[in-house]
Amino acid sequence: MEPLQALRRYFGYSSFRPGQAEIIGCLLNGEDVLAVMPTGGGKSICFQLPALLQPGVTLVISPLISLMKDQVTALTENGIAAAYLNGLLTERQIDTVLRRAARGAYKLLYVAPERLETPAFLDVAKALPIDMVCVDEAHCVSQWGHDFRPAYLQIAAFLSALERRPTLCAFTATATERVRDDIVRLLGLQAPHRFVTGFDRENLFFSVLHPSDKLTALREYLDLFRQKSGIVYCATRKTVDQLTALLTKDGYRVVGYHAGMAPQERRVQQDRFIRDEVRVMVATNAFGMGIDKSNVAFVIHYDMPGDLESYYQEAGRAGRDGSPADCVLFFSAGDVVTQRYFIEHMEENEALTPQERARQQRLRLDRLGTMISYADGARCLRASILRYFGEAASDRCGRCSVCCGEILSEDVTIQCQKVLSCVARAAAVPKTVIAVLRGRCTPQVSAAGYETLSTFGILREADDEALQELITFLLSQDLLAVDDAGCLRLRPSARAVLFDGERLRRRVTARDLRHKKSVQRHAAPDPVLLQRLSVLCETLAKRNGVPPFAVFTAKTLSVMAAVQPQTAEDLAELPGVSKAKLQKYGALFLREIHRYRALDMKSKEF
Ligand code: ADP
Ligand code: MG
Ligand code: ZN
Repeated sequence: MEPLQALRRYFGYSSFRPGQAEIIGCLLNGEDVLAVMPTGGGKSICFQLPALLQPGVTLVISPLISLMKDQVTALTENGIAAAYLNGLLTERQIDTVLRRAARGAYKLLYVAPERLETPAFLDVAKALPIDMVCVDEAHCVSQWGHDFRPAYLQIAAFLSALERRPTLCAFTATATERVRDDIVRLLGLQAPHRFVTGFDRENLFFSVLHPSDKLTALREYLDLFRQKSGIVYCATRKTVDQLTALLTKDGYRVVGYHAGMAPQERRVQQDRFIRDEVRVMVATNAFGMGIDKSNVAFVIHYDMPGDLESYYQEAGRAGRDGSPADCVLFFSAGDVVTQRYFIEHMEENEALTPQERARQQRLRLDRLGTMISYADGARCLRASILRYFGEAASDRCGRCSVCCGEILSEDVTIQCQKVLSCVARAAAVPKTVIAVLRGRCTPQVSAAGYETLSTFGILREADDEALQELITFLLSQDLLAVDDAGCLRLRPSARAVLFDGERLRRRVTARDLRHKKSVQRHAAPDPVLLQRLSVLCETLAKRNGVPPFAVFTAKTLSVMAAVQPQTAEDLAELPGVSKAKLQKYGALFLREIHRYRALDMKSKEF
């Protein structure tokens, strides 16, 4: 079978990701491979697929028990014979697996590195037709890496104990030049083909925030991402417990996860998150390795991790399905203290001499330094990451908080309500919906009689591009859907926005906002609202014995009727709204705008 055909048949994918086809080609030729691919890049298929296409069995050495189990389950689901061996199985289960393996029952056998040293396993392995040995998370072999596992050092000895040397391949997401060299040397890769696929994940937007109050900032972000699923990483178990309790009390659907919980409980929490029963996973770094949840829309680091490898690996769990996703780091000076403490009280590693331990500490402090300079936010965040991994990068990516300026959020409820109520009446293709909103009588509009709708022209002042963006936003928020004919339809969740007062916020950057402000100046006022605001202005003027323009000028009223601010802050942004006027009149004008909007919405039948 051709690799591409096998990809379709066994994994249901129609094309290879960058690097996959080439790596698979080398392995099928019996050539060693070192592959460095980002988290979510699709490393597993690179060894699983050639394993299927070879006559014997492939051993996969993997450091994490949960990861093995998940991969074996996934393979079995796809009809591929696979099993794993680790310390969680009983002696009897292990015997069974070994006996079956000896009979040639498996294409893939996953083992923990410690297993390679046991005589029972070596006996069986010597008798097995092993085509290929694959070392997953291969950086664990290097003391320069961030997850050193001494048992990985035994892999080379194991291989040389076999009668026939299998093809050897090593995979990792996190390897600097030094770690790569260690992997080749310590595993004994022979003239390996090296593949380093691009580290850039274009769909990720990186931000660093220095919030004065992290909890408030977190709430704001969770609201911004609305119903989207995401992970909040914390440095300690205590923070996980505290945040989980606080957020639950606030009504967010969250679960917590850390290594202090019983394995069974962790399993339950993880499943609830993966099955979308809860929206947010609050966890320590114990969560995530080998977790393959494709629709994670954001990863927030509530605390700064100890190095950039860990950060990128964890943040990289966002947006695996390729849709736009956010990676946000909250940074405070306290984070540096916490991470220093971790390094100074590092777990005793039995396999290390005191000198080695001291050297490890120095290395960790160096890596912490790199992480801190990322968190400083002085340079383009994407460029910092890519260069750290040895990739060339331009100085400005245009998709990070350093390139785009401060990250703000904007209330887009009104505009969205207008679009949604228009779609409720005119479930047409986006282009036609935009024409109706702008009040343009295109042939499609008049053919359907849309020009008589109450929503005809309600967003006359917006431009087509902005409306297209709003529609995309509503699709991404699952408030709109596209049917088979390409027409927009309301999703049931749109009701909450139209009738139950649910607010919608969208992330904007300082750069977007500057652009928008200049557009806003030309926005047309809503004539009915303008009329009402003018009446209010005259009433107040009369009451206070001043001319109407002393309350607000016609210009200010007109902008107010166009922008329709929702909050005192928004109102204060408008030209001619001083602090004093805001205090004196702000609440009354805001109330008038709210009332008008409520009326406006009620008059629409939906
Ligand atoms: P990694 O180990 O590199 O972090 P995985 O092997 O877990 O990544 O793959 C990440 C996700 O990408 C998985 O859901 C996997 O099924 C999917 N994937 C891998 N290869 C392809 C492909 N060619 N087409 C579509 N999806 C793929
Ligand atoms: Mg993997
Ligand atoms: Zn940038």
